[in-house]
Amino acid sequence: MVSTVIPVQPFDLVIFGATGDLARRKILPSLYRRLAVHQIPAGARIIGAARAKMSRAEFRKEVSDALLEFIGEAGLDKALVEEFINGLDYVTVDATGDNGWGTLAKKLDEKPDHIRAFYLSVAPALFGDISDRLAKHGIATPASRIVVEKPLGKDLASAKALNAQLSRNFDEHQIYRIDHYLGKETVQNLMAIRFGNALFEPLWNSNYVDHVQITVAESIGVAGRGAYYDKSGAMRDMVQNHMMQLLCLTAMEPPSKFDPDAVRDEKLKVIRALEPLTIGDTVRGQYRPSSKEGGYLDHVGDPNSHTESFVALKVHISNWRWAGTPFYLRTGKKLGSRFSEIAVVFKAPPHTIFPQVEHHRGNALIIRLQPNEGITLRVTIKEPGQGGMRLTEVPLDMTFAEALGADGLMPEAYERLIMDVIRGDQTLFMRGDEVEAAWAWTDPIIRAWDDAGTKPLPYDQGSAGPIQSYKLTSSDGHLWREIEA
Ligand code: NAP
Repeated sequence: MVSTVIPVQPFDLVIFGATGDLARRKILPSLYRRLAVHQIPAGARIIGAARAKMSRAEFRKEVSDALLEFIGEAGLDKALVEEFINGLDYVTVDATGDNGWGTLAKKLDEKPDHIRAFYLSVAPALFGDISDRLAKHGIATPASRIVVEKPLGKDLASAKALNAQLSRNFDEHQIYRIDHYLGKETVQNLMAIRFGNALFEPLWNSNYVDHVQITVAESIGVAGRGAYYDKSGAMRDMVQNHMMQLLCLTAMEPPSKFDPDAVRDEKLKVIRALEPLTIGDTVRGQYRPSSKEGGYLDHVGDPNSHTESFVALKVHISNWRWAGTPFYLRTGKKLGSRFSEIAVVFKAPPHTIFPQVEHHRGNALIIRLQPNEGITLRVTIKEPGQGGMRLTEVPLDMTFAEALGADGLMPEAYERLIMDVIRGDQTLFMRGDEVEAAWAWTDPIIRAWDDAGTKPLPYDQGSAGPIQSYKLTSSDGHLWREIEA
């Protein structure tokens, strides 16, 4: 079962910040992979842009090194790398000055028929400057697209300012706010499973769903980016964007059609139906030093920091579908493993006819984002063999890697999303009002934590976070799922 690849139209993709970490690690390798499966047509151009003075040949060498580093020699085909590299160009441009923009305009004008996309892989402080200069130099056309990365603000006010900056020169339908979680195969499959089957949707509500758990666990700490992280924390870095998107896709009503605004309207309704969080609905943590290395406070170099490297939340959605079903969210650094999943836990059967069964856990649909993207349905069956009517739980497993062909290679989320930009499909991108609504929900609790002045609770590295987070679920009679390796 290998999917058909439909080539996109010829395009010019300008990557601002093409020499930076994100471009080298994700964007350029993803583009190579799409070329390798023949989705990128001949003549498409990828134009790097940054302040560094570099010739086209030097840029090509840099990109070829990045492909080697992030894909590895075994994953590269010499002829395809050559073809990819030959489609690369470079301009020296300073986002905050006027140099280089004329050269860029001239290059793009050589191919007026190409789809034009600008990927802003630079600090958000430069978004306004770049967008203004694209307009001033006549480079932005009504059909061109602009792609921006998180962080999309640090609170509601800054998110509004950012949206206002972008909308000075681009219409909402031209703005692609990337959240790479939405590009993950399993996350899209969550929509397919819900809306492509009649099986689950009748059960997808508080009558049948006991609770939902969303976990995004990271095993790494913040060392190396401590200064940046300490200004943000788990709530801003993970919950406001990625986890809210997962929550929305799990909880939203079926859209009337699979089109960008229909899907995003439904997600927005979920955010707007979230009850305000109270401090009692939250547990914040900071990882302790271990025998091998320092803790969070050492990594950010501030012994008095109150920023959380872990947060667990109990979230309620005030609407007919979900009233009474808690959604538990949890994310953190230096946890037992790198592990992300959505678990929809169904209620136990109302009456058990099997006297041996003391405790029925109920079915659960587990959507695993990493590692090993896949979906599992936990069902109860009779234990095979003799010995009477003993029941056991088994997973019905759908591991997508196996379904994707011999090499089992899952497309990187960025591959799908960048091709969607070229296709002009915004379904898997956040709309401005969604981002603002998410900040409007997270701002008050962040302020409440600041006002309370309490320090996050310490937790051991390699654990599942502060033990107090278990109270969030156990007080409702629930138990967090294990953070599996
Ligand atoms: P980075 O490694 O610091 O790279 C920044 C890039 O911007 C460099 O190519 C730099 O090249 C260029 N640049 C800086 N100032 C410029 C200016 N005035 N005009 C033109 N170009 C300029 O940053 P990054 O990690 O790639 O991150 C880029 C964006 O993606 C940020 O918004 C970040 O928050 C976001 N993001 C990154 C990741 C990630 O994994 N890295 C993940 C999610 C989101 P020159 O110095 O030569 O100009």
